[in-house]
Amino acid sequence: GRKFVVGGNWKMNGDKKQVTEIVETLKKGPLDPNVEVVVGVPAIYLEYVQSIIPGNINVAAQNCWKVAKGAFTGEISPAMIKDIGANWVILGHSERRTIFGEKDELVAEKVAHALENGLKVIACIGETLEEREAGKTEEVVFRQTKALLPAIGNNWANVVLAYEPVWAIGTGKTASPQQAQDVHASLRTWLSTNASADVAAAVRIQYGGSVTAANAKELAACPDIDGFLVGGASLKPEFIDIVNATQ
Ligand code: 13P
Repeated sequence: GRKFVVGGNWKMNGDKKQVTEIVETLKKGPLDPNVEVVVGVPAIYLEYVQSIIPGNINVAAQNCWKVAKGAFTGEISPAMIKDIGANWVILGHSERRTIFGEKDELVAEKVAHALENGLKVIACIGETLEEREAGKTEEVVFRQTKALLPAIGNNWANVVLAYEPVWAIGTGKTASPQQAQDVHASLRTWLSTNASADVAAAVRIQYGGSVTAANAKELAACPDIDGFLVGGASLKPEFIDIVNATQ
């Protein structure tokens, strides 16, 4: 079976006091030991959070650059993330794509470099409202995933896909369990044709977009939903209940 994996994407939120409090809350838990938990931390707090977080919780950067070092002002590399002891990175988040103009090709280059340097990657995909209403959801999600195939190669064991419909992010408008399940299932079918049957069966696909303690259980019950990527609610104690949604 696929191990349930829940990510908390803190985005650009919190200060040192608040991130300390969030870690204290996570320490108390209790967190279902059968669930893999990852927190996506602002770059400036990565080393601090890594130093205080319990060993059962993984730390992710929210972005990184596509080469090891050099004249790239403001960027961080996978080697730097590993250097401070974190092992994960979130790439291709819709905010990176829309606000910062990251295209499929750049996201793929970042994924390739992160994997080459031994990071685990949460790779995000998802359609806008306009694309959904135009009936293009699958086309968009397949295109975004196709761009990742050469970057991932045979490294699928270190990749989690996060399906985050853009219209559901930060809007309080969660995809219904059926809407999310439908996309997850067609993505898995697409992967069996375009990657392999083994990849399709093994890869974990998270749902993200206005996940809360109130809707997590119903979403978690869907056969092709293998976890969540949580934004706003990951800053609150209810994140514990979201982690434990399969209990
Ligand atoms: P919200 O949970 O705040 O909608 O954010 C989802 C998200 O973008 C997680 O990466």
